[in-house]
Formats: sequence, C-alpha cells, structure tokens
Amino acid sequence: MSDRDPIPRTFYSEYTELPFARCIDCDCPLFEEETLYTVLKHVVGKETVFEMAICMTCAAKMRQQYSEETSQNLQAYIEQKLREKLLKEIEDSGDDFELEEEDETFTVEDGLASCSFCEKPRSDCHRYEMVGLFLENEIILESGNGMSFSSPMILCQECNSEVSKLISKKTRDSWDRFVEEHFDGPPGIEVDGPKMEPIFF
Ligand SMILES: [Zn+2]
Ligand SMILES: [Zn+2]
Repeated sequence: MSDRDPIPRTFYSEYTELPFARCIDCDCPLFEEETLYTVLKHVVGKETVFEMAICMTCAAKMRQQYSEETSQNLQAYIEQKLREKLLKEIEDSGDDFELEEEDETFTVEDGLASCSFCEKPRSDCHRYEMVGLFLENEIILESGNGMSFSSPMILCQECNSEVSKLISKKTRDSWDRFVEEHFDGPPGIEVDGPKMEPIFF
C-alpha cells in the first residue's frame, strides 16, 4: 500500500507558486475526485527550467504514440537497471537482505535523495529530472520496492542521456511536437529545449 502526503512545495508550479491545477494537454482540473496525474520538472542548478502536469488519460494517449521499438527498448532498459540495483542491494547487505514488503516509511525526501538508476546523490546532480505521481491534492509515496520506479523519483543527466539513446526518431519527433504545441518558444532558458524524455508517463 502506498502512503500519501500533501503536495510538497518542491512539486508546486514555479510559475504560479501553487500546486498544478490543470492537465497541460486536456486542461482537465487535477483536484477532481480520483484524478491521477504526474508532475514533471527539469532542474538545472537550483532552477526549474521545465515543468508540467499531465493526467493519466493524456499520458496513456502519449504512450500509445511511442513506436513499438521505443517501448520495448525502454522497458528492457528499465528492467535491467532496476534488476542491477536490486542485485547490488542484495550483495551489499549480505545475509541480512530482506525484501521490504511494506516500506511504510518511504518519504518525499527518500524519493528525491538520489538518481533512481545509478543512485548518484541529488546534491551531486547539476541537471536532473524530478517526477512524482499524484492523486487529487496529494502525492503518492511509493518506494517501488526495487521492482519499479518510486514516487517521487529523480533521474540524473547521465542516466537520462543513456535513456535518450533508446528513443527512436519517431518517438522523439512526437515528443518534440508535444512540447512545441504546449509551450511557447522557451523563454530563453534552455537553448536546446528541454531534454526531457517521455519515459515516465
Ligand atoms: Zn489530460
Ligand atoms: Zn543516474
């Protein structure tokens, strides 16, 4: 079971200084009953250079646009990474290893402490992506138990570039188009546009 917390300030919109209220794509209100959504931020230094909230319906639609190739590549990569991480944890803990079945103490800080793939501490990451899963006006806290991503989570720039290599041109084009449609030309913050990868939806 996952816990929930009120939406932490780090996941507020930098722009409005309030929690995200609407889906970037369909504009549906996010605080409605049972609305599940993702908030995504790209951070450089201490600054958020890209942010958005997207509802699960729109995210699913976007996922359908991925090429078959991309979906398979991503899935295999993510599974491999998570398996490596789990194996390392087993090795590190020797005989004491226990699969944490109920990680009740998982917090926002735990999720944001280090890269989900390589465990590089956030304080060492100049650029990183931050993602969380939300239900209405609360964040879902989920450790993933080494089997899936946690919520929230971060991904460092290096791991993000690795992931980028798995994305087909077709998928990248549709993501670029999505960004173009929803964001007016970046106001001079990122010369080469947000290098977000749509893997999290
Ligand atoms: Zn939507
Ligand atoms: Zn990493």
